[in-house]
Amino acid sequence: MASNEDRVGKFLRRLLERRSSAEIVQSLSRDDKPVPPRVPGGSSVTKEAVESRWELVNVPGHSRDALHARNGADSLEPYGHNIENCIGTVKVPVGLAGPLRIRGTYAAGDYYVPLATTEAALVASYARGARTISEAGGCVSILLHEGMRRTPGFGLSSLTEAGLFAIWCIEQRDALRAAAASTTRHGELIDIGMAVEGNHVYLILDYTTGDASGQNMVTIATQAVCDYIMENATVRPQFYFVEANLSGDKKATAHSFVSVRGKKVSAEVTLPADLVQSRLHTTPQQLERYWKMSAIGAIQSGSIGVQGHFANALTALYIACGQDPACVAESAVGVTRFEVTPTGELYAAVTLPSVVVGTVGGGTALPSQHACLEIMGLAGPGKAQALAEVCGALALAGELSITAALCSGDFARAHQKLARGNNTAAGDNHF
Ligand code: NAP
Repeated sequence: MASNEDRVGKFLRRLLERRSSAEIVQSLSRDDKPVPPRVPGGSSVTKEAVESRWELVNVPGHSRDALHARNGADSLEPYGHNIENCIGTVKVPVGLAGPLRIRGTYAAGDYYVPLATTEAALVASYARGARTISEAGGCVSILLHEGMRRTPGFGLSSLTEAGLFAIWCIEQRDALRAAAASTTRHGELIDIGMAVEGNHVYLILDYTTGDASGQNMVTIATQAVCDYIMENATVRPQFYFVEANLSGDKKATAHSFVSVRGKKVSAEVTLPADLVQSRLHTTPQQLERYWKMSAIGAIQSGSIGVQGHFANALTALYIACGQDPACVAESAVGVTRFEVTPTGELYAAVTLPSVVVGTVGGGTALPSQHACLEIMGLAGPGKAQALAEVCGALALAGELSITAALCSGDFARAHQKLARGNNTAAGDNHF
């Protein structure tokens, strides 16, 4: 990591204040004392299995009760298929952001969006953005494209063999589709791409996954594709991996940014200047000016895309609604744009090309996560596309609110007020 001389010197002096360099070297050397017992029980959540795990750690009773009541009041039974080595649950507070009026192709109506977070000011900020959008008649939020990707990699002996193998794969596309289809009722292999690098071939397999976010589904289907290839290929690869890290799984990538991974969604709203003033305490001109400067700032930082804080909306919504929060790494990528219209209103838009969400599978059936989806009427089959459109609209609400706070000077004030415990009023928050 780049660092200047003063900073490095200061860091080292601080380190050596507490211990000598010999002590530091000693603490970093190999430790051969016996390894403590492994955590027992795997996926089992029986009383005995949970108890045997708690025996490993020594914490006061009240700490244990905070994670899992010793009187057995909170059953861990629902979690057996979602976690291993379970000892309890962490409680994360949930707040409602809304009303958020959405005019979408799948989502339609006024949504109160549950957000799970321990970050003060977050829900209030999204609530303000959502309400502003609603008072302007709502935003349009549209699912543009879908496709969950897996990219198995195959090692051949030479570039020539790699080329022959790639041609064979193209010829076999119907058989590869059939192999994938044999593993799932709702998943479908819709596109087969390829990248050849020396004697390596990466297959780029895009699937639709019904109402599931689909990462497990496409992994299982891709395994079947790989099995078919390894059994039938006329030019047999020397080795393969079911995922060779070209898919963008849980990473922000340029590939996902220019195509789609999960669900690509775009949302827009036009806000009258008086609404911008009364709700956001700034002007369309100031918002546009900020957007221009922040876009150049983002370019200088090397950011993929240009946006303010998609991650705040998505992380809180993913935790509340049983999505995989690690997918925020890929989902919180995209573009925000603010412009003053010829009639002096604010045009605001966001586009997120890799929103990874589902309303079936993953953690969506767990009790509190299912309840959060139900709050929006989005639990279960037939709702995943609408959930993606809600994500787009929510991201738009957050971009409006945070940018307005930066423009009006309320950004630091709001955090000081809410995060430092000075807020007891139930009224409007000025950010
Ligand atoms: P999943 O729970 O593994 O699969 C969804 C299940 O729901 C399938 O059995 C599917 O059956 C069934 N289903 C029933 N009705 C459906 C409907 N209407 N639409 C779609 N499926 C329906 O969930 P997933 O979405 O595939 O995987 C998500 C989880 O994978 C997340 O928790 C994520 O963290 C994790 N993940 C896995 C990997 C990996 O490589 N394994 C990587 C990253 C994340 P059919 O299959 O028969 O259609």
